[in-house]
Amino acid sequence: MFARSAFRTLRPLQSQVRRYASEATSKSGTNPLVYALGAGALGGAGYWYFSGAPGAEKVAAAAPSAPVKPAFTGGDQGFISLKLSDVEIVNHNTKIFRFELPEGDMVSGMNVASALLTKYKGPNDEKPTVRPYTPISDESTKGYIELLVKQYPNGPMSTHIHNMAPGQRLEVKGPLPKYAWSENKHDHIALIAGGTGITPMYQLTRAIFNNPNDKTKVTLIFGNVTEEDILLKSKFDELENTYPQRFRAFYVLDKPPKDWAGHGGFISKDLLKTVLPEPKSDNIKLFVCGPPGMVKAISGPKDKMKQGELAGILKELGYNEEQVYKF
Ligand SMILES: Cc1cc2nc3c(=O)[nH]c(=O)nc-3n(C[C@H](O)[C@H](O)[C@H](O)COP(=O)(O)OP(=O)(O)OC[C@H]3O[C@@H](n4cnc5c(N)ncnc54)[C@H](O)[C@@H]3O)c2cc1C
Repeated sequence: MFARSAFRTLRPLQSQVRRYASEATSKSGTNPLVYALGAGALGGAGYWYFSGAPGAEKVAAAAPSAPVKPAFTGGDQGFISLKLSDVEIVNHNTKIFRFELPEGDMVSGMNVASALLTKYKGPNDEKPTVRPYTPISDESTKGYIELLVKQYPNGPMSTHIHNMAPGQRLEVKGPLPKYAWSENKHDHIALIAGGTGITPMYQLTRAIFNNPNDKTKVTLIFGNVTEEDILLKSKFDELENTYPQRFRAFYVLDKPPKDWAGHGGFISKDLLKTVLPEPKSDNIKLFVCGPPGMVKAISGPKDKMKQGELAGILKELGYNEEQVYKF
């Protein structure tokens, strides 16, 4: 609901949004409209932690850190077999799968940003299918990880995971390093996501807002087909309410409902021009993750495991390769 009301104010807000997007982190409280948007929810937000996945064990980021045992250690560890313990339905094609780590007091060992690789070879398959997933459970959660998986028609891995029943096992390996985050690495980042491309963005966002020392501003642009497809929206609403000066989300729907006050169609050049930090801003980074067609249109395709040349809308808007990371 909050995000919708934020959208209703988007068009008159456009010049303000650009200003918000290019403000230095050290300035605070300079945008009265942004204040107004979130004022009701600001109270006492000096220390706050992001709760992570639904039902995840909550561990305050500032708590003294006890020695932890990581389940995934990378290197030559190879795949380990994790038992599925629980399945939660999210919508018509997406579920949350909870997998037990080998020991109850283990954490995942994921760093931010990183992914896990899953492997499955069906009885009639010549070769195993290997696909990356980013857990939505917090890195400090002990005993399990949670994967938010959308089922694609005839997609071999997503269909396999969706067909699993509690008690069955999945081969998982990691962490697969992505963009190494450290606090305040950038003044302002923008996350451009489509569909399940949101999970790496969620991981990054959790790391930033769980850390009271990290003052990075975050702008999310999230494209989906229908309103029901917007994953993790309550988490982003919570952030937008708590940190109106540091977190803004813009939702784009290909098939919006009649009363949708936000953007329709695909994530467009016009929208990005309005809400992204300007290319000439100091120390910004834009992250892109989503279906191959979307990544190609926004930033040019990845070249297998490499970043690939920067192309598409971001190049047209004047960003350079250093400023963009494709998950
Ligand atoms: C870093 C990273 C993290 C990911 N994390 C998750 C996650 O947490 N949850 C999740 O459900 N998926 C995630 N994905 C996508 C996942 O790896 C698989 O591509 C997806 O589950 C489809 O696999 P499949 O074998 O079922 O089907 P495939 O045959 O591989 O693909 C089926 C369809 O999925 C589309 N597709 C491929 N990649 C993506 C993508 N990234 N976003 C949206 N559509 C895509 C293809 O265009 C195709 O139409 C992630 C991808 C990357 C690169």
